[in-house]
Amino acid sequence: MTKYIYAFDEGQKSMKDLLGGKGANLAEMKRLGLPVPDGFTLTTEACIAYLKHDLKLPETLMDQLETQLEAFSQRTGKSFSSNEQLLLVSVRSGAKISMPGMMDTILNLGLNDENVEKLAKKTNDFRFAYDCYRRLLQMFGQVVYNIPMTSFDTYFEEYKQQHSYQNDADIPAEGLQEICNHFKEVYLNEVYKPFPQKPLEQLTEAIEAVFKSWDNDRARVYRQLNEIPHDIGTAVNIQEMVFGNSGDRSGTGVAFTRNPVTGDAKLFGEYLLNAQGEDVVAGIRTPKDIETLKDQMPHVHQQFLEVSQRLETHYKDMQDIEFTIENEQLYILQTRSGKRTAHAAIQIAVDLVEEGILTQSEAVMNVEVKSIDQLLHPNFDTQALQQASLISKVGLPASPGAASGKIVFSAEEAKIQNEQGERVILMRPETSPEDIEGMIASEAIVTTHGGMTSHAAVVARGMGKCCVTGCSDLEINVVDKVVKYDTGTLKEGDMISVDGAKGDIYFGEVATMKAERSHAFEQFMKWSKDIARLDVRMNAETPQDIQSGYQFGATGIGLVRTEHMFFGPERLVEMRRFILSDTREKRIEALNQIRQYQTEDFEEILRLSGSRPTIIRLLDPPLHEFLPKSEEDKAAVAKQLNVSGRTLTQYIESLEEVNPMLGHRGCRLAITYPELYIMQTEAIIKSALYLKSQGIHCQPEIMIPLVSTVSEFTILKNQINERIETLFEAHGESLHYLIGTMIETPRACLIAGDLAQECDFFSFGTNDLTQLTFGFSRDDAGKFIGAYAEQGILDTDPFQTLDQHGVGQLVKTATEQAKAINPTIKIGVCGELGGDHKSIQYFNTLDIDYVSCSPFRVSGALLSTAQSEVKGGRLRV
Ligand code: PEP
Ligand code: MG
Repeated sequence: MTKYIYAFDEGQKSMKDLLGGKGANLAEMKRLGLPVPDGFTLTTEACIAYLKHDLKLPETLMDQLETQLEAFSQRTGKSFSSNEQLLLVSVRSGAKISMPGMMDTILNLGLNDENVEKLAKKTNDFRFAYDCYRRLLQMFGQVVYNIPMTSFDTYFEEYKQQHSYQNDADIPAEGLQEICNHFKEVYLNEVYKPFPQKPLEQLTEAIEAVFKSWDNDRARVYRQLNEIPHDIGTAVNIQEMVFGNSGDRSGTGVAFTRNPVTGDAKLFGEYLLNAQGEDVVAGIRTPKDIETLKDQMPHVHQQFLEVSQRLETHYKDMQDIEFTIENEQLYILQTRSGKRTAHAAIQIAVDLVEEGILTQSEAVMNVEVKSIDQLLHPNFDTQALQQASLISKVGLPASPGAASGKIVFSAEEAKIQNEQGERVILMRPETSPEDIEGMIASEAIVTTHGGMTSHAAVVARGMGKCCVTGCSDLEINVVDKVVKYDTGTLKEGDMISVDGAKGDIYFGEVATMKAERSHAFEQFMKWSKDIARLDVRMNAETPQDIQSGYQFGATGIGLVRTEHMFFGPERLVEMRRFILSDTREKRIEALNQIRQYQTEDFEEILRLSGSRPTIIRLLDPPLHEFLPKSEEDKAAVAKQLNVSGRTLTQYIESLEEVNPMLGHRGCRLAITYPELYIMQTEAIIKSALYLKSQGIHCQPEIMIPLVSTVSEFTILKNQINERIETLFEAHGESLHYLIGTMIETPRACLIAGDLAQECDFFSFGTNDLTQLTFGFSRDDAGKFIGAYAEQGILDTDPFQTLDQHGVGQLVKTATEQAKAINPTIKIGVCGELGGDHKSIQYFNTLDIDYVSCSPFRVSGALLSTAQSEVKGGRLRV
């Protein structure tokens, strides 16, 4: 019989797959002897079985549930029917990977018309008992029967207004009793059945609702965004209730063991007195800083400090802890690795190494690669900021970043406008999980309520999105679509700028500037580089990009696309003259001009690279890309080149191809026009020889693109070598250079052994290799890849993440063949996939030497390769 339920003391932290993150950690904390209310966990397997079998609970589950409840009653001495020792529980979802606020929670389960009276008598607090009951009625109605929250909230708010109660806490017991009675009527009106009075029935329905919530829209969107598989299911945790809402000596809160925004090694958290469950994160009441708990309940504060330090050391990571205080007794309800900003992630990882809690390898595993991308986010330009005028200054810096956009007031509007190409800022009193898609579509999120752990703050930090919460000096009216600030009003569509690092909001658009990297970042990247086996080079050709790439840790240049240098106006004229020439002499004349430009380009590139390897790829694209398209341009070019309009049109037509990407491009250009690559070779070698005379010893590596036969490569290699020898003789000087090929066609992969005998290096051009292996046009695949992903035909876009089964196998075979024949051959990857985290994990298992990607992806790629190395690295035979 499959065991579907585990008591907390049967589990431990390594059982996350089965018990979910929350369940496994509750069990672990119990093992550590921490104050955790007792309970048990229904496994993710039970959820998967339920969803697979037409929403039917597995056969033995109910028996197991009854047995567990009995054992639970024995341990706690409490039951759902006891007068004196009444059992009430919370029911909470918990998947293996945490999905904050994405699924559902029910508190105070077990209360009914009879039990609420028992609770009131036992605690001698009618107000408290009816407050618990009205919360259960609300949560249960919403989660289990999908009754809209407004059906309860509107009445609740109206009731408060009618009786002039400012806060929820002002409503007396009788009032809450009246509200409960009304809430029970809501059930009858909305779903035509009463609120179930039997606790076991409540429990079963709640369990089913949590299982079902795994498949709700917002959970699906969250999983999509965070690449969490859809088939791992959620566990359900049933836990004895403790009450943060049982008076002023009680409360509930959330704390991080370190600051999740800055990474400072200081407890950071918020709490509310006389409050329950989601009150803190829902952002409805603004919570207090955990520091003030020191004055209100010093011994509880001290105990919490000790528990939080113990958890952090035990889990070797910053923890996000939920706690409840019931009559000055501390209880821990959850611990998990805390979501943090990229800046904090690096700071915390470095500090934990310095404190001796983590090794460098463990620290490298503690930072997500996407955090590195976030760190390179821009900030507002300091000078531009001085000119800008503030709208609000009291907001909390919930998630850093600098963003400008037009105001929108709903998630739907954010989505619509974003699809129309607008940059928008979502402004809400507070956000809720339903807003997730609108948050994704926005540049930044601003709320008037809520603290640093509100839904908006937590979700935005996870997404790396700029966010400011708690702007209490603004009044956001989502119905009239206006924001009131002290002296005026903003409306939908007005442009504002948001500083997520400071919490400030400005009028209009403020200019941004590049991010500064901290000392901790440099330290962290050094560790990553030390651990990484694969080198990371960059794909770059402009001086600015090359300098950035080297600052980000590149070890060389893996791809200079020389065609990018032909688009300056003077160069384009000569290139067109070359293409449109009808004799070799005229072509050479045009190329002589271009050579001068190219020599200057290469001199600059090679100077910046110095002794680091630099791969220069000879011309690759189809020639028609350089020709004029519009009639106006054609007329201008005809004039420039001194040919008639008709002649030009005829030339252009003669160059037209049906499938240019499969046509006259790559090495095929030089097979027909050898002088093209000869000119580029001369420019490379002449600039390198000049630099050598200046004491700069560079290492040019000449790369021939789109090869698919050995002869293509050897013919061109011989021509190039011959010309280089002549140049060396003429200069009385020589230098070290390499000649290699791109591997971009399936045929090149299949004959890699033969090619390797001739080549000094290989570089996989995975853009073309993916295009040619699938037969998907890299320029048009966007039209259908989305449908392929939706229908499960492909897991991901193969142009963004390597298709391991197909393209990956070609890369593997080619690498193995090449290294077997030529063990010293250098092999790299320079397509887009060279900067993709998942693809790098695979490349690192092969005998590949480096990956190459755009400069801004270099640091992330370095961390990816370090992580892959820590996880086991290359499978050596
Ligand atoms: C490739 O095909 O992967 C490549 C790097 O070359 P390009 O993208 O310039 O065709
Ligand atoms: Mg290519």
